[in-house]
Amino acid sequence: MFTRFISAARSVGRGNRVADNNRPRGVPIVLTASAIEMSDFKLNPFIAFTGGFPSKIVPIRLLRKSWYPITPDNGDGSAHFAPYGLRKIEALLMKEFGEESVVTCTPDNIRKFVGPDTKVIGVSTMDPLGIGFVSRTYTSLVAIGGEPMAAAEFKCLMKHPMLKKKNRKAKLIVGGSGAWQIERGGMQDEYKIDAIVIGESDRTGLEIFRKVMKGEPLPRVIHTEKPACEEIPTIKNPALFGVTEITRGCGKGCQFCSPTMRTFYSFPLEKIKREAELNARAGSRMVVLQTDDLFLYKHRERFVPNREAIGELVNTIGKIEGVEYLQPAHASLPPAVYDPKMIEEIAPVLVDKGRWECHGRKVASVEVGIETGSVRLLEKHMRGKALPLEPKDWPEIVTQAVGILNDNDICPLATLVVGLPGETEEDTLATMELVDDLWGTELFYVPLFFTSEEECLLSSARQADLRHLTDLHWEFFATCWRHNINIWSPDIDGKIMVASAVLYPLYYRWKHGAKIGKAMKIFGGLGGRARQRKAAG
Ligand code: SF4
Repeated sequence: MFTRFISAARSVGRGNRVADNNRPRGVPIVLTASAIEMSDFKLNPFIAFTGGFPSKIVPIRLLRKSWYPITPDNGDGSAHFAPYGLRKIEALLMKEFGEESVVTCTPDNIRKFVGPDTKVIGVSTMDPLGIGFVSRTYTSLVAIGGEPMAAAEFKCLMKHPMLKKKNRKAKLIVGGSGAWQIERGGMQDEYKIDAIVIGESDRTGLEIFRKVMKGEPLPRVIHTEKPACEEIPTIKNPALFGVTEITRGCGKGCQFCSPTMRTFYSFPLEKIKREAELNARAGSRMVVLQTDDLFLYKHRERFVPNREAIGELVNTIGKIEGVEYLQPAHASLPPAVYDPKMIEEIAPVLVDKGRWECHGRKVASVEVGIETGSVRLLEKHMRGKALPLEPKDWPEIVTQAVGILNDNDICPLATLVVGLPGETEEDTLATMELVDDLWGTELFYVPLFFTSEEECLLSSARQADLRHLTDLHWEFFATCWRHNINIWSPDIDGKIMVASAVLYPLYYRWKHGAKIGKAMKIFGGLGGRARQRKAAG
């Protein structure tokens, strides 16, 4: 307790010192994000998912040191790498107000740049209250260790001495894909945030900063306008994970999805290449192709994939000097079935530049959305997902696509959504059947609670949560994670078995009830259909 007091006192002392570098009066516009969002998780974009896991199981200091070390500084204290969204707004602001008027830094260096001349501090956030898909799901299922890491780190940033209202004249603006959470959670006053910006910032963001720089008042909550393609800037400084955006938006219209609300753009290859080269020159060993679906890139009518354009994109970026790993952010499954030759053509580059291993061999990976095995639910909430194929064939599309990807050494990470509005036991059984059909394939499952994000068609629908989980849902979660252990980490099988056998009677039976007994057995590899299938080979 005493040590904690001393370190708190020290940090307040440090924080109250203003701008101790060669900019003693500070920089007019300071951009930042929380410590966890300023990390590349040791160059592992999939591990970044764990930002939604509880924060108090391991001390946060240890997590910062070994799980999500913060991005390094440049000599002057500015951040060497930063989240891509911040780099986009930084580029816009530098063009408008001059490079010397804008800096992006980590929370550790805020005090170096905030001073009497600072007019605005802009914060980007993806999951400030920990109520996104991953956070809501795994914080409540694990049920040990308090709020998600992403929320704990955002709170920590908001408590930074230089961000406290009494210590700043500058306006505090919060934007980014998770900004809506602050409004919905009623935390704007608690965190003393002057304005929350919801939506894409490429057009309206500039107007907001112009107002602040002129000293004009801002609305408390600003919903932005969609930008035109040419308004979206090219980044000027390197992004974490070497991100470069290849497409924006989607257009397939899944009702739980926010990217589909944006206008669809495929960016010119020259622009993509410039950003990728900038990242590689700055020392990023990875380039992430940011997209909601790689196969949307320059797609043809009815979402038919453009094999030539996708091949050219992957080959061009893969050849950039210094790019050791090339990672597409997301892809969809139907194009793999529609055009398996396209997969054969791009797989060699993706595997050669892959970051992952499965069963002792080098593989590529990409996040895909399976979401459900129920054709009924697919037709109700995400009809477009099966395009250019037919929704009625969804389970077969998924199994065939995973087979084609695996045959080409691509082992996807797949999301599944539990508790979609109107879901019945038959729907859950259909998804269980699909997971059974996929048993033994090289796939990593991330099952998630349905979450009604602000910018989607189902924004006011009831969210899934622990109270509404049936025995079958528990069995489903356990089966998915049992599959993950079998495929990706069979070496920890014994530890998982012991942990489940010990934790169920000591804690989880009390916390979640006896109904999870069967699920714990499946997860521990001690029973259920997973066990039967495993035994059957
Ligand atoms: S296919 Fe994926 S990105 Fe497109 S609308 Fe559906 S969930 Fe969103």
